[in-house]
Amino acid sequence: MRPIDPARRLVLRGLAAGGCAACLAPGRLLAQDAATGPAIPLTEPTGLAATKARWWKALPDEWIECGLCAKKCKLPHEERGACGVRVNLHGEYYTLVHSRVASIHLDPIEKKPFYHVLPGTSALSLAAPGCNYECRFCQNWEIAQARPEQVTTHPVTPAELVKLARRYEAPTIACTYTEPVVWSEFVHDIAAAAKPAGVRTLVITNGSWLEEPLKDLAPLLGAVKVDLKAFTESFYKELCSGELKPVRETLARLAKHGLWTEIVVLVIPGRNDAEAEVRQLARFVRDEIGPDTPVHFTRFHPSYRLMNVPPTPVPTLERARDAARAEGLRFVYVGNVPGHAGNHTCCPGCGAVVIRRTGMAVLENRLAKGACPDCRRAIPGIWA
Ligand code: SF4
Ligand code: SF4
Repeated sequence: MRPIDPARRLVLRGLAAGGCAACLAPGRLLAQDAATGPAIPLTEPTGLAATKARWWKALPDEWIECGLCAKKCKLPHEERGACGVRVNLHGEYYTLVHSRVASIHLDPIEKKPFYHVLPGTSALSLAAPGCNYECRFCQNWEIAQARPEQVTTHPVTPAELVKLARRYEAPTIACTYTEPVVWSEFVHDIAAAAKPAGVRTLVITNGSWLEEPLKDLAPLLGAVKVDLKAFTESFYKELCSGELKPVRETLARLAKHGLWTEIVVLVIPGRNDAEAEVRQLARFVRDEIGPDTPVHFTRFHPSYRLMNVPPTPVPTLERARDAARAEGLRFVYVGNVPGHAGNHTCCPGCGAVVIRRTGMAVLENRLAKGACPDCRRAIPGIWA
């Protein structure tokens, strides 16, 4: 695989001509069965295409309970869940964002960030609208917090995405930018199309994912990156409208499924940077997921509704890294600080730098068959 220019962006050639959700005939909602594909006209006047959802259960009086995330929304006819992309129609459940992308780019895989997955390669990165959280620091709030009818989307099938990945020599397709959990049906079908073609599907998630969809998807996925936003319930509640406990459960399940997992902690000054909290988080990762799990402590920059909080001082990130390493984590990184020594992958055996990076760019990869070239210690990851 050849390294790519981090600035290279995929032109929406071919997709742009496909129009957007608003171009569908008003007054009709098209239901497309996820398994069989045929379009079945329904009568709801939203103008959005709808695809039968997979993970939900029926309740009395045409109510349903969504089975994707820990919010477990319970909805009557014509109501949508908290993420705004799933709707109950007469006791049947539909996703409104299957095969529609709001954003698609060719990114360095280090941008996700994955540091132990195919370093130096590109990931075809895409998002459908929607998220089950409302993080006050969301960088992609325009598409994550929008209803699908509020953003321009482009129709693209999983098979077309696989063709695009191959055309641009991307060994991975990354479901990212918004929250892939709320478009799990699309993720499932992408992964099912990509795997036989030798393309790995990556999921970048907040981790609020229930067991059943995760169990169904795990055999199809290549790797998962979880944003562990903090290690206190109060942070999740006050800044994200979420919960920590389900994320901890998802991380433990990912380890059980044997899926390669990396963790990102966006360190926000005064909110989640206390050493005691960082140490508690590191002990959880060490004991429940494994000490070889890469953890990235990344720098916060003011965004969205947290414009009043300053960027994270670099020494704060360094203290977090030192504390996590002291608790026994072997691969701890400093993110969003290009040129920092914490960008490199170092051998936990002899300390040699095995992958030298600056930010998203790989400067040197000395791995020899997945091992340190100096002391031969195996470095865990997906390297080939
Ligand atoms: S995925 Fe959306 S609809 Fe389903 S439980 Fe989560 S927020 Fe509710
Ligand atoms: S989970 Fe991610 S996409 Fe969703 S609101 Fe939070 S930062 Fe934004």
